[in-house]
This record gives sequence, C-alpha cells and structure tokens, in this order.
Amino acid sequence: MRSAREQRSGRPVSAEEIGSKPETFESPLICEFCDSIVEPVRGYKTVPALFRLRRNLLHQPRCALNPTEIINDIARGSHGLAHVTEQGLLRLELPADLISIPPHTPEPGDEPHPDATLIKHDTTTVRPFLPPAITSAAKIARFLQMHDFDPKIVERFRVKPHGQSPVAWGRFCYGPTHESYAELYDRKRTRRTIPHPIAVYGTVQRVDQERGSGRPYATLAVNVTAGEHRHHVVLRSHFETLITPLAVGTHVLAVGDWDVFDRTHIPQLRLFAEDHWQVAYWTTNPATGRPAEPACPPPVTSRQRVLARTEARRRRNAAATPQSSTATPPTPPVKTESTPPPQATVRSARDQPIAEQPITPTYEEAPTEPTDHLITEQPVPPPLPPPPPVPPRPTYPPEEPASRPRRRWFRRRRP
Ligand SMILES: [Zn+2]
Repeated sequence: MRSAREQRSGRPVSAEEIGSKPETFESPLICEFCDSIVEPVRGYKTVPALFRLRRNLLHQPRCALNPTEIINDIARGSHGLAHVTEQGLLRLELPADLISIPPHTPEPGDEPHPDATLIKHDTTTVRPFLPPAITSAAKIARFLQMHDFDPKIVERFRVKPHGQSPVAWGRFCYGPTHESYAELYDRKRTRRTIPHPIAVYGTVQRVDQERGSGRPYATLAVNVTAGEHRHHVVLRSHFETLITPLAVGTHVLAVGDWDVFDRTHIPQLRLFAEDHWQVAYWTTNPATGRPAEPACPPPVTSRQRVLARTEARRRRNAAATPQSSTATPPTPPVKTESTPPPQATVRSARDQPIAEQPITPTYEEAPTEPTDHLITEQPVPPPLPPPPPVPPRPTYPPEEPASRPRRRWFRRRRP
C-alpha cells in the first residue's frame, strides 16, 4: 500500500515518509480504507517502501484493499474465466480466443447472464465493452496497483493460458518495474518463444506525435536498462483513436504481440494495437487516490481500417515507383559527382530506390512502421460512405474484416 493513516488523527501518511528519522508519523497506522493496523515496510531490492497489514490481520470486509473480497468479486464478474483456488489464489484462465465470451453456467452469486453483465457495466464507466478475460486482467492490475505491486499480494494471482499450465501473474503481465520490462525485452530480443498472450502494465509517461503521420503514441517507460541495452516501452497504433484517450498519468494494460523494434536510436519494446480491446486504461482520482474503473477506446471502425490499408498501399506504391506517383514529394537530385550513399555502389542509377528511412537518432523521432500486416491480398475495397452522425452502438464482438492475419489467440470465433 502506498498510503496509510494515523490511527489517532486520521492524517494520511505516504510511503515516501517511511525510513525518515525521526519518524514523521505517529504509530499506530491504519489502512487507508479500513481500520486494520498496518506497518511500514522499508524498500528492498526492486520493491519500494510500502505499508503492509500487521501480521495475522485482515482488511475489514468492505475494504477496497481486501484481497479476498476483490478475488471473489473478480471471479464473479469473470464469466467463468477466473476461479478461486482452495488456497485462496485467483486463477484467470485465458480462453483460446481472448475476445470470446465462453459458454458459462452461472453459479449462485454470479452475474446471471452476459447481457446482464453488459447492462451492469453500461451503468459504470466500462464502455465500450472489453472481453471478460481482458476485463478481469485489468481489474487484477488495478488492484495490484493499489497495493503498489506488493509481491505478497501479487503472488495471490495466477494466469492459466489456454491448454497450458498456470503461470505467475508476472509471467503474463509485465511492469510496472523496469526490471520486469527488461525481462520481457530480453525474452523478445533473444527470440525466446512466449507461447501465450502478453500484457504490459504501465503508467503513461509521455504522449508524442509520430513524424509524418502525426499519429500519437504513448510511452510507458523511458530508458529502461536491460543488461547493456537500453529501451523505451511504447504503445502505438495505426488508429489514433486507440491512443488519444491516453494522457500522462493514465494507467494502461495493453495486451498483444509485444515485440522489440530496434530500428530506432534507442530500441523500443512496443505494441502496435489493432483493436480497442487490446488497450484497457484507467485514471486515479486525485482527491481520493483511488483508481477509476477500467475503460477502453471506441472500437476501430471499418472505415478506419479501409483508410489505413489505403494509406499503407499508397506508401508501398510510393516506395516502389517514386517517379510514377504525383503524390510523392520530389526527391532531391542525385549528384553523381558527390560521394554516393552505400547503396548506390551496388545499384545503378536506373534502379528503383528503396524507400528512404529517415535516420532517427533521437528519442522524439518515430520511424515509419512496417505496414505489411495491413496489406491483404484482396483489392482495396472502395471507400465507405461517411459515417453516420451518431456512432452506432458498439457491437460485441466488434466487426472486423475476416482477412486480417492474426495470432491464434486473437482469432475471432466464427458463428
Ligand atoms: Zn483495509
């Protein structure tokens, strides 16, 4: 826990006060949300200073930090994906298709029907809707955030990838410590296979615009060191509506094909989000210090996907035949007398040059991303008519072209 209260005065005490001499607070301290006694724990290794319940005590029943309470609550709202084990751990089972709503026979106390779940969520801030697996993961991350990722609390959560053995929470969801990001970075950099979906949790440090496209991207961590390597943790998308809800300080759980992109001066551990449900986010209420309910961006529309494919095709064509396209900016004349670039030594002047990648020596610059995954074998469909003034009610699951290649765990279930 990041915060506690003096029992006598009720004064809030921050974990940053732990360790100062003389002590700046009066013991005993109690939980921020209930009257249970807590004690300061000094930071060690990668764990920051925090407050922890006094030995053998529990949070009171309705306390927001009560793990038993939240574990049962998440299990009830998980559509049968999260189970409480006999040891009191919460095990989240990932379905083969992450966005599926698995068939589920409700038990007493469960939310009775998927529609009812949606209606219930409709009255809170969770709209449009996240699939149950992502909703549960976001709730877990949000709860762990309230505990400052205290290892003793983190170890009460497990994730069971479809058809695999359960793994520790930290093997499914990386962050927010730099050590955790570095571990994922190393696994990806060395091409070690991770046979299940990966989530990354973090807090937005900055939002910048890509050069050229102007699309925003969010940085969750800067200058993370992994051995001799240094990298940033970046969330990007061809669809700016997936990034625009994020601001500095927003907490994010992003699920998908996190990978290492090393064509920048400083490599990036990055995700290119393609669907709204890959990005769950929430803010912290500055007055209460409590995190809000997770939300997600609006679904990507068919029109956005058509435009993105068209743009990718245009860029590819421009790169292949620069002289034939009037839309291509004129390239500077090549002076054959001057020192040619390395490529020119193996390439005749009549060869079509590859697209010039701007050299990106600084952090602010973002390179052009490969857009092959947006190109399909199908011809580009004609532009759609403009969207109606009132956006349609989000469908669940959202529409998308069936032709886009996907990882196994993203494949949509066909009726
Ligand atoms: Zn409490």
